[in-house]
Amino acid sequence: MNKNERNKLFIDRDKLYSLLDKKVPQLSQVQDILSKALKLKGLNLEEVATLLRVEDPAMIHLIMETARRVKEEIYGKRLVLFAPIYTGNVCINNCTYCSFRRDNKLIKRKVLSMDEIAEETRTLLREGHKRVLLICGESKRNDTDYMVEAIRTTYGVREHDGRDYIRRINVELAPMEVEDFARLKAEKIGTYVCFQETYDPVLYRNFHPADTKKGDYEYRVTVMDRAMEGGINDVGIGALLGLIDYRFEVLAMIEHANHLERAFGCGCHTVSVPRIEPAIGAPNADNIPSKVSDEDFKKLVAIIRISLPYTGIILSTRENDVMRTELIHYGVSQISAGSRTNPGSYAHEEEQTGSQFSLGDHRTVDQMIAMMANEGFIPSFCTGCYRKGRVGNDFMDLAKPGLIKQFCMPNAIFTYKEYLEDFASPETKEKGMKVIENLVNAVENEALREKITANLNLIHEGKRDIYF
Ligand code: SF4
Repeated sequence: MNKNERNKLFIDRDKLYSLLDKKVPQLSQVQDILSKALKLKGLNLEEVATLLRVEDPAMIHLIMETARRVKEEIYGKRLVLFAPIYTGNVCINNCTYCSFRRDNKLIKRKVLSMDEIAEETRTLLREGHKRVLLICGESKRNDTDYMVEAIRTTYGVREHDGRDYIRRINVELAPMEVEDFARLKAEKIGTYVCFQETYDPVLYRNFHPADTKKGDYEYRVTVMDRAMEGGINDVGIGALLGLIDYRFEVLAMIEHANHLERAFGCGCHTVSVPRIEPAIGAPNADNIPSKVSDEDFKKLVAIIRISLPYTGIILSTRENDVMRTELIHYGVSQISAGSRTNPGSYAHEEEQTGSQFSLGDHRTVDQMIAMMANEGFIPSFCTGCYRKGRVGNDFMDLAKPGLIKQFCMPNAIFTYKEYLEDFASPETKEKGMKVIENLVNAVENEALREKITANLNLIHEGKRDIYF
């Protein structure tokens, strides 16, 4: 089978719907699947479909508790923090759920200049961010040349006498060709992110008019293959929840990850779970075709966590503070903080450019970090794996035996300490220092504990960017 045939085959619509069209499972079936999930090897498609058919609240509770244990076992108490930088809201497409759609005359359009991107970056650095996601609509004004310049500009910004800079840029961009991906790779991007929106090849057309570039389902669903062929190690997939039956989207994302694993020996690095939110001038944002309830949303996040245990789950500020606080316990491993989704609005709060959707969580970075301390979590701004080359397959090999805790936890502690020293409010600093003390005391390996303590002292004395 050649690549094209393989690409065409990996979402089998009829098969996925038929797996969902079965009886509600018995408790014993669910228990068997959850016992397997605790072995941290993931689940097959039939097992995932069985869990998606669960409706009984007591069984859903069991799924959630399993997800909590899986998450704790693999990720410990760390949560990766990032912020999106919207570089433009101009778009040639006409997606029915998005404010950036070309027919929307209700928002002010803007594409940031390089000086404006630098200003946005500086503002985020002053808040303590180290990771950003560059994101924009699809337009000639945001082509690959523009993005290459934007990446160089963002990486080039220095703050605090050169001590602070963005250490990892991920990008969320429209599908492109293998050569374009090779160019992005050469600029040292981290993860390439692109959401399929909906994986249903028939219903896709309802939301993405045929006369637009995005109307080509196949070109979009095969984008990660081109990204990996172009040398990108880490790719992030996602579906916009609310367009069709969420259960189909979850199964399809598992299939997508399986396909990448089969084809490239490495599945996806992250899965995103955006739910449709209100958006100005976007008909399906007001009239959501297949709304996902809060209970179903929590269940689906837990199912993804146990099905793809080593894949990060990203939750954006679309969700409100209550939901985000709850879901960090059940599966979410990466979370944006202090986000703004209209171009130019970090540096200029008064900026009236249109945003892509309404935000549900308005907490600042400092408030998010204080919340994490209350919940027993610590933020990680760490980019150590990426910069040491532990990406793609290497990252998976490292993560699978559970070594993630050995590298990631100390590195998270170092970046947390940096944040507390340089940016935190006095209350957050006091809370955080106690959390760090407890975490270090809990490290059983004496040599590792001493190494961590020595590095924390160096950070206190002013050294920065220490990582294993
Ligand atoms: S979802 Fe993306 S492609 Fe569609 S209109 Fe919005 S910005 Fe453009």
